[in-house]
Amino acid sequence: MKLDGRVIAITGGAQGLGYAVAQQLGQKGARLALLDISGEALDSAVSTLARQGIDAQGVVVDVADEASVVQAFADIAEKQGPVSGCVNNAGITDDALMVKAKEGQVETRMSLAAWQRVIDINLTGVFLCGREAATQMIEAQHEGVIVNISSISKAGNPGQSNYAAAKAGVHALTVTWASELARYGIRTGTVAPGFINTDMTASMRPDMLERIASKVPLRRLGEADNIAQSVAFILDNDYFSGRIIECDGGLRL
Ligand code: NAD
Repeated sequence: MKLDGRVIAITGGAQGLGYAVAQQLGQKGARLALLDISGEALDSAVSTLARQGIDAQGVVVDVADEASVVQAFADIAEKQGPVSGCVNNAGITDDALMVKAKEGQVETRMSLAAWQRVIDINLTGVFLCGREAATQMIEAQHEGVIVNISSISKAGNPGQSNYAAAKAGVHALTVTWASELARYGIRTGTVAPGFINTDMTASMRPDMLERIASKVPLRRLGEADNIAQSVAFILDNDYFSGRIIECDGGLRL
């Protein structure tokens, strides 16, 4: 899909991977709708992009809230027109072992709240935004692309029952939608990043990050632009659908 003049929605677009995606797609001529829960971060992202000559609208949304998502996509359609692309990138972590014990005594357990919050944002949020985006693409009768951001953790990762389950589910949505939506000219794809330098990884302990980097065959964490390149490839390649790009420096968890 040629991006020139196309409206592309990017969730979690105010910083990190979402912002890098915005910058690359904006440089290719896309008109951007950045959806994020943080209005302050959105204002700053939109004005930085404007200084680079990139046209972006900031839309405050909670991707886990149906009414908020429906309203956000209605605002985009009204101000910029129907979306041609949707990059479902917003996500959080809330790590804890499901059950942690010492000498037969259970010390901690992942709470239902920690489970639910990550599933709501990282999985239900992708469903809701994907549904609204597909609806607009079909009603506008133009081609479209939905890109979902998963993670290397989709294969399972200790301390991430909630996150790993959500990220595996995200790719299941990509595969399902590729079959359901192809008849309307809509393609899908997943990008599964490894460990990438953003605020999300900056919150991890430095010694843990060093240990991870030493296990990556390329011996370093990735950069947000590496993920943006993968997203741009899926948008551009007209015979790519329902599949995954793993951009992780070759790391296996
Ligand atoms: P980040 O924390 O830097 O940015 C996430 C963005 O999502 C923020 O702008 C935040 O405000 C927004 N957000 C959070 N909750 C939201 C909600 N309910 N509604 C709308 N917006 C919300 O994270 P990042 O590192 O840029 O990660 C982006 C995506 O990539 C996430 O889905 C993450 O799981 C995935 N990922 C990241 C890494 C990594 O190493 N950074 C690795 C694998 C996967």
